Formats: sequence, structure tokens, C-alpha cells
Amino acid sequence: YRIWQTKKVLTTCPHCATGCQYYLIVKDNEIVDVEPFDGPSNHNRLCVKGRFGSFDFVHSSERLKYPLIKNKETGEFERASWDEALDLVASKFMELKKKYGSESLAGFACSRSPNEDIYMLQKMVRTCFETNNVDNCARVCHSASVAGLAMTLGSGAMTNPIYDITNDVDCIMLVGSNPEEAHPVVGMQIRKAVDRGTRLIVVDPRDIGLSKKADIHLKIKPGTNVAFANGMMHVIIKEGLADEEFIKTRTEGFEKLREIVEEYTPQKVSQICHIKEDMLIEAAKMYAKAKKAPIIYCLGVTEHSTGTEGVMSMSNMAMMVGKLGKEGCGVNPLRGQNNVQGACDMGALPGDFPGYQKLKNKEVLEKFEKAWNKKLNPNEGLHATEVFPASIEGKIKGLFIFGEDPVVTDPDTNHVIKALESLEFLVVDDLFMTETAKYADVILPGVSYAEKEGTFSNTERRVQRVRKAVTLEGEMRLDTDIFIDLMNRMGYEQPYLTSAEIMDEIASLTPSFAGISHERLDKTEGIQWPCTSKEHPGTPIMHVGKFTRGLGWFYPAKYVESSELPDEDYPILMMTGRVLYHYNTRAMTGKTPGLMEISGSSFIEMNTQDAAELGVKDGDKVKVSSRRGEIITTARVSEKVSKGESWMPFHFPDGNANWLTNAALDEYAKIPEYKVCAVKINSY
Ligand code: SF4
Repeated sequence: YRIWQTKKVLTTCPHCATGCQYYLIVKDNEIVDVEPFDGPSNHNRLCVKGRFGSFDFVHSSERLKYPLIKNKETGEFERASWDEALDLVASKFMELKKKYGSESLAGFACSRSPNEDIYMLQKMVRTCFETNNVDNCARVCHSASVAGLAMTLGSGAMTNPIYDITNDVDCIMLVGSNPEEAHPVVGMQIRKAVDRGTRLIVVDPRDIGLSKKADIHLKIKPGTNVAFANGMMHVIIKEGLADEEFIKTRTEGFEKLREIVEEYTPQKVSQICHIKEDMLIEAAKMYAKAKKAPIIYCLGVTEHSTGTEGVMSMSNMAMMVGKLGKEGCGVNPLRGQNNVQGACDMGALPGDFPGYQKLKNKEVLEKFEKAWNKKLNPNEGLHATEVFPASIEGKIKGLFIFGEDPVVTDPDTNHVIKALESLEFLVVDDLFMTETAKYADVILPGVSYAEKEGTFSNTERRVQRVRKAVTLEGEMRLDTDIFIDLMNRMGYEQPYLTSAEIMDEIASLTPSFAGISHERLDKTEGIQWPCTSKEHPGTPIMHVGKFTRGLGWFYPAKYVESSELPDEDYPILMMTGRVLYHYNTRAMTGKTPGLMEISGSSFIEMNTQDAAELGVKDGDKVKVSSRRGEIITTARVSEKVSKGESWMPFHFPDGNANWLTNAALDEYAKIPEYKVCAVKINSY
């Protein structure tokens, strides 16, 4: 293509939160290829999703091209003009607000869209709906990280940069994370580090690619992370490996924690977690003795009814050995979608304005009221996972969903559908006719990352530029313009702003983003927040010398069983997860034929012994049922999962694991327990 290429546009991958950078190669207004760039988190590496799954969807014939309104009589969607659609959306939301009150409305932000879009969406919900019922899909993936890290350390984000924790470290502890599939470029860097001599401890209920490279693989029973962490800390204390100086000068609450972990002897933990005592002891010594040793974790820690306590346990372990605020250390959640970090940073949260500024703080509330020239609702809103039950109870009447597909992604699909059907008015702003959009009253066609300017914040808090590469035919509109237009139609005067101007507004109101602008980002490799002034270089490593909350807080947690465990009726434990070739609902990767050819349908991983007892062979069709629903899928029989356990990806609308999953919520973050539910499996 080099002979005829006309344009190379540097941008950031729209799939996972690694934040790889690449050039989109554009010929005659069509993206024809991707070329890796030496970005700070990828250094010229890309995975199969970034390399091959990043542009077919942009040009897909399935893109929504104009607004649609559902005909109430026929149930069919009909083409509408923007004026018709936006007038209907604005008038209907205002009518519902008048009739049922502002708390009857809610909005979900898109964690794949740029920061500027998300900022405007939450501003629309707060100023026009007059509620804080605004949330994003972090609620179902890493809300436990946001809550757990904020409570223990003061900031709910990854502490160290990707390069720092995968390069020149002595030991990596990987907990509930399969980066070679979910964050492949991070996975590649861990693999390289191990090849160079870094020790690796994998804590995961499944055999994953990296467990084969590990020095120790603790094949832990799903849902027992807190017991595992308490056991590790028990051994660290007994072996005299705790960092007493760090504990004394930098933390509080240690004595309470010490009392709790005293009970978690290796013998007790081995029974709870189904791991060997000597392996636990060895892992604790290996982690504590290593000088540079990061904890890297993912949804295997967060997606439990004790997810927040699991996250706080990761902080406890790192604080106990003084491995925070230092190079090559820290507590590092690998966030999910490309901009789910940004969706939280931008205030798509029911209790926080942008930059985690608390709604409850009077000064903060007054600052936003003054800047937005609007009296704001001071009451914390509902979390996304509370909006659906509230809708069934008749409390939520109108919902605006921007770029999310909860029918596929949220637990207990039957429950989600019932909730959507209970609404009086549902608006979906998306690229495609998603499973959720089918339930909408109005569908608004937005534009993809390749058609707009903006920024994404990757998992290491690095704000990076997204740049417009193509302008496509059709009536699709910039999402920020849709929100601004709606705000004006709902009676709130909001001038049209460019993406760069929106970032300037964000910076003016958000201390941790104060030094960030498109102009500055264009001259740098991206900036890691906090960046508190135009001269501030950004913050690669957090909590150096002092935690964001002052002293780090040891949160003592006791092990509590998962909310639904196998029994006579549903004897197999099921977990969910992701595969290399797709991202979440496949909304984007599902439009790339090559990826669909390799990975085109759902499956369930079963243990060899369970399969033999049930008369199921590898490749057989099976019926999988739980108390909430049933699906037909294909069995993959191996030793990857332990006896009595199974695992399913959730990417596929047909045979989707979420018809089975349990919507039991974590107390603090309201994150659902995707990682443990009870199912039965029968030959089909
Ligand atoms: Fe990088 Fe993730 Fe994109 Fe793969 S999907 S290229 S690892 S950002």
C-alpha cells in the first residue's frame, strides 16, 4: 500500500485498555490497514484485535446511518429526521421528569468513547435530567477497583505504568488475570519478562497460557481471593517478611488486620482455596522477598460479591511488604475497555463529578453549579446495576444508553430484558442495531473512534489522543453534538464546543486533569494523571512518599463464600471470561470476517472427569442451565478447569453465558458476581 497510500493517522486502539497506538492507513476516505506505532504502552506491538479488528467495523454495511423511531403500533423502527428524533427524545424525557420526578431518569455512558463524549453525557444527565443516576460499564467490571483502591490508597486507579511493571522486575504476581487473551500486549511483555528471568506467580482457577510459564500456579477455587490473600499475609508475618518501617510510617489499621489474618493458617487456606499449603508458603516468600514485585490483577478479583474486599486485599498485601509508591511494584488493575478508566475519570459515576470529586463535598457541588450555571441535584444516584431492578419496580421510567449493550453484557439476561421492557422510554445512541437497541423507542446513530477527535485514558491513567481519519456517508452525528443539541432542546443553554474545547472545560474543573489539553497531548506521548498544571509532567507512579489519602489503610476482610455455590440441582460452578479474538460484545471485532472465522460461536470449557460422568465428548452440543435461564452451546473438554468447575466466554449473543450468570451484587461497588454461579450441564 505504500505506493498509493494517501494518509496515515496516528490514533489509539479502541478495544482493550492497554492503549496501544497505531496508524490508520487511509486511502480515498477508507481505512485499509493498520501500522503499529512505538507508543508508550505497546512499543510497536499490537495484538490480533488491534491489528485486524480495528477498521472493518467502521466501514461495516451494518452501521446505523440515520435516526430511527419505533412505530408503537407495528413495533418496527422507521427512519426519522434528526429534528423529529431529538425533539421526541427531549420532550419525552422532560415529560417523564415532570410526571415522575428527576430520579425517574438515568443515563449510561459509553466506556469505548472518548473522554470528551463521556464528559458531555454526564453533564447532560446532571443538568437536564437533574439526577445523578449516571454510570458506566465499569460498574460491571472494575467498579470494585475504583472503590477498593480509593478506600485503601486514596485513588481508584493502577499505581504504576505498564512498562515499569513488566520490564526489569524480580517477580510478578498475576491474580485473576489472563492478559494473553484480554490484554495481549501486556501479556506479551510479561512473557518476555519471564523469559529474561522474572519469577511469575499465577493465581487463577484455570490453566492459562502464562500459568505454563509460571514458577508457581495456584489453581485457586473461584471466589476465594480474600482467603488466599489473608493466607499470604499470614505467612509473610510468620516469616518475618513484613516491612515494619513502611507499615509504621506510611499506613494505619495494621493491628486489626494482623488479628484477622492470624486465623488464616496455610492449612485453613489450603482447604478453602483448594491449593497446596507448601505452594502458598512458597508464593508468599517469593513475593515478599522480591525487591521489585508488582501485583497485576483483573476481573477474577473484582467480579465477585466480595469484589471490593478482594481488591482491598491486594492493597493490604502490597502495603504489608512496602511495595507501593516504588518502581516496579504497586497494585495494578488491568482495566477492561479502551476508555473505561476515562469513563470513571470523567464523572460517569453516581457519586462523583469528573476527577473523582465528590458530589457530597459542598465546595465541589458549588464549583460545578457555578461553572455550569445550574442548580444541581445533591443526591447520589443509582448505580447501573441498581437501575434495572428500579425499572422493574417502576421507579426508573426513562433511560438513555450511550454505546453499551447490557442485554449481552449484564448478568441474568432475562432480568435485563424485563427491566428494559418495563421502561416508558428508552433511547440508545450506538453504531449498530445492538441487542439492547432492539428494545429502544429511539435509536440515534453516533460515530466511531475513527470519525472523531478526542482522547482515551488507558489502564495506566495515560491520556492519549484519538484522531479523526475518515468522514463517512450517512446522517451519523458526533456524539458530543447529539448531547449538546439535546441539552439545548431540553432547555439548558450549551454552546457547541469542539473536542479540544471540551477538554479545556474538563481541565478547568478537574484538578487531576488541569494540565491536560489536546495541544499538549499532540506534543507528547500522552500524559498520566494526576497532571495538576501546564508545567506538571504527569504522574507515572502514584503514592510516592505519601498515599493519595495520606496514610494507606489496611482493610481487614474475612473470607465469605460466593452467593451461589453448586448444589444437588446445579452441581457445576461456572465462571465467565474473554477470548483473544473478541472484545466484549463483539460489536466491533464481530465485523471482521477473519476473527469470526477463528472464533465464531460460544462454548463451555468442562473438566474431563465431569464430561465423562455426564457422557459428554469434546465438541458435543450441551444444554447449560442455571436458576435464571438456559442456553445451548458447545462443550470443550480438557483439564483447563478443575473438576466441578466450568468456564464460558460472554461475547456471543447466541449461547451467551449471561443468560445463566448471577446478578448478586458486591456491597460497596455493586459489581455483579460474574465469576461464580451454579449450573447443570446435559447432553443436547
Ligand atoms: Fe493493544 Fe489491547 Fe488493542 Fe490489542 S486490543 S492492540 S492489546 S490496545
